[in-house]
Amino acid sequence: MKIRIHRGANQIGGCITEIRSDNGTRVLIDLGHNLPGEATADMFDEASNLSALLDGISGIIYTHNHGDHLGFFDQVPREIPQYIGEMSREVIVNVLDESLNKAIRAEHKCLIEKIERKIMSLTLFRTYAPKKSFCVGDIKVTPYFVSHSAADSYMLLIECDGKRVLHTGDLREHGFLGKGLEKTIMSYVSSVDVLITEGTMLSRDDEHTMTESEIQTQMTEIMARYKNVFVLCSSTNFDRLAGLHKANAGFRGRPFVCDVYQNAQFKTLTQYSGKYSDLYVIDNAAEMSLKKVNLHKKMIERGFTMIVRDNPTFRKWVSYLMPHLDPDQTVLVYSQYKGYLKEQPKLRDFVRMFGKNCVYIHTTGHATRQTLARVCKMTNPKSAIIPIHKEVDSDFCTLDISEELRAKVISSTRYVDDMEIIID
Ligand SMILES: [Zn+2]
Ligand SMILES: [Zn+2]
Repeated sequence: MKIRIHRGANQIGGCITEIRSDNGTRVLIDLGHNLPGEATADMFDEASNLSALLDGISGIIYTHNHGDHLGFFDQVPREIPQYIGEMSREVIVNVLDESLNKAIRAEHKCLIEKIERKIMSLTLFRTYAPKKSFCVGDIKVTPYFVSHSAADSYMLLIECDGKRVLHTGDLREHGFLGKGLEKTIMSYVSSVDVLITEGTMLSRDDEHTMTESEIQTQMTEIMARYKNVFVLCSSTNFDRLAGLHKANAGFRGRPFVCDVYQNAQFKTLTQYSGKYSDLYVIDNAAEMSLKKVNLHKKMIERGFTMIVRDNPTFRKWVSYLMPHLDPDQTVLVYSQYKGYLKEQPKLRDFVRMFGKNCVYIHTTGHATRQTLARVCKMTNPKSAIIPIHKEVDSDFCTLDISEELRAKVISSTRYVDDMEIIID
């Protein structure tokens, strides 16, 4: 068996890992685009580079639907099967439907065609389910659920040529379902030869990491202090949104407001995850519209929690509502990565619309140093630990792990126990 880290050993995002069996089956795990803000353009935006990478590939398996893992799916030839979690696919379809509606309204023909191509490509995806193994040629894959800021994220156990490889994808323990990680690894994954794992937080170790539960408590405190609460956060960060919804439900008669697109995401969440936990049932959100006078009245009288994003529709709604609201009782909670404020001037302008009260409440979707160390210890791989999704100068050997485990950390190409490991 051969393992090749095409990309990701020395950068966060843009992940591409290949597993190749001795019989020649070649599977990619994730085919991610570089994150925005990378110094250089993405080499796979060049069609010839992408087709060279995909030449001879038997299948592509995505750990989750963030763009730095699922970046080029619409450019993959039809004959290469692509796999993702069922809900994960649905969430992306919702995002694309919203983009398509906008493109249609703007009569942007080129964009309409591009989005339709993406939706068509997603309909050809094969979906997998947790703990249900499937095969691509002679490579066996078993997905296990992990907590991350994208819903429906998985780690993948790969069995090939008598070896067991665990690829964690992006993960964390401080999400609502994060506690399940230990049981998943100890009871289901069991022993492995190779661990391929993310290391995002190695370079951000001074950040205090709050749990989603602590975030929910802080949101409740904000709602108790302010009558009118706007929250700016990712429309697909379902742990955050579920915590917000639960916090708001503690205040009787206070509407939980969003737009039609966000409510479509809530319907998907409720359909797929609601059966596992009530936390993920969000079926009573009010859809904002300038025509809904009764809703406006209720919001102004009783207060509200409104999920917002930076776009012209929300700008219009915020401009309409603000003159009716007491500035001392109104707040914006900024609940996403702070760096976006530096990178996006339009977003800064949007935030200024909410007046003097703005608070930052957020936590990362990635594993803390403690969790990374625990993942190494719990899996205790026989042959190798391959860190990916990390900055070039961050080092797994600085984790609190044994000398024996440290000796197994691989950052350059080598042969280990009959496996060729190539780090590009
Ligand atoms: Zn990622
Ligand atoms: Zn991610």
